[in-house]
Amino acid sequence: MPSRARKAPERTAGTTPCRFCGSNNTHIMVDLGMSPLCESYLTLNQLDQMEPFYPLCAVVCPECMLAQIPAYVPVDEIFTEYAYFSSYSSSWVEHARRYCERMHEEFRLGPDSLVLELASNDGYLLQHFVARGVPVLGIEPAANVARVAETRGVPTLTEFFGTDLAIRLAAEGRRADLVTANNVLAQVPDLNDFVAGIKLILKPDGVATVEYPHLQRLIEGNQFDTIYHEHFSYFSLLTSVRIFQAHGLTGFDVEELPTHGGSLRLYVEHAEYPGRAISGRVADLLARERAAGMDDLLYYSSFGHRVEEIKHSLLELLIGARREGRSVVGYGAPGKGNTLLNFCGIRTDLLAYTVDRNPYKQGRFLPGTHIPIYHPDRITETRPDYILILPWNLRSEIVDQLAYVREWGARFIVPIPHPEVFVEKPTEPIASGGVTQ
Ligand SMILES: [Zn+2]
Repeated sequence: MPSRARKAPERTAGTTPCRFCGSNNTHIMVDLGMSPLCESYLTLNQLDQMEPFYPLCAVVCPECMLAQIPAYVPVDEIFTEYAYFSSYSSSWVEHARRYCERMHEEFRLGPDSLVLELASNDGYLLQHFVARGVPVLGIEPAANVARVAETRGVPTLTEFFGTDLAIRLAAEGRRADLVTANNVLAQVPDLNDFVAGIKLILKPDGVATVEYPHLQRLIEGNQFDTIYHEHFSYFSLLTSVRIFQAHGLTGFDVEELPTHGGSLRLYVEHAEYPGRAISGRVADLLARERAAGMDDLLYYSSFGHRVEEIKHSLLELLIGARREGRSVVGYGAPGKGNTLLNFCGIRTDLLAYTVDRNPYKQGRFLPGTHIPIYHPDRITETRPDYILILPWNLRSEIVDQLAYVREWGARFIVPIPHPEVFVEKPTEPIASGGVTQ
């Protein structure tokens, strides 16, 4: 078989220009076919209705190397009622607590400061600043989670963030000492307007920290299931530094985090602010990304073929188990699980049900595949032979929680980075072990 590894990816058939630089020359990174919105969990009544499916084809721009999904879905169809409550993941809340503690100390935040969080969800993070007496403001477009934040004492505006809102807040004298944007940069359709808004809302010596999944980890870890319609952009450090630079913001430090299968936390400040030295970690990671080839289109070319391989071997495994008369169920109902199950065509014939700790999801059905979601107790009641862990980034935590299934000899399956069956907790700490979804 001829090697396809050095072949450049195909030009995109669609006509959507690059979200950052406007180039019309984007190339296909991976085509995941047609998929429903991965956070649209269905109620029993909705099962008999038509369900919208949208193309899910990730492309890469050869000019700026931004990997992206064209905005196939109108934004107001995605974010009005969001099923994900950050507080249901204990490790994510802990991640947020440690972050607040560090920022509070490092940037000397006090009663005269303002911390602004973009996409503040249910207040899981800002509550820690509130507890320290630091004034906060959350911005969260999903009304249902914003309401929960308010009950926690976290003042929250139910709006999308961009230059319009930034100008309004700045005019009211509400500019921020710290802007926190965790796992939102990837989800904004108008990337340039969002970053320009950060520039406008920061005080002269203010700092913004921006967390987003690291594209290098996604590609090298085969994490194709973290590609979904709600995630419009996928960043290397090279590309993100370019984007912030274009808006007058300098990346002065970066940390590599285990969250979401491997994320970056980029610290930015006004380019004209002379205060802080640029950390060696920035140059170091930029050099590593260049060495890996991330500034070359060829780097992105083999990803689609590896993704097909994973689909085929996962299906072989599940079909084999079913042919032997074994029962297979899922654990978790994260957004990424829906990309995986829809792309692989896994429905109730291969995966009888899944369970989730989030009561919002219990009693509902996964979009597209219509796999039912139950309370985790269902596993004890039905004693399945195999448990497919959909939030594979929480693998260790979940295997600990499910230690009791060994009683009847159940085995675990993880799909990513390669489909794998195992019984015991791995002895090696896995790089992707982290937080949420
Ligand atoms: Zn571009």
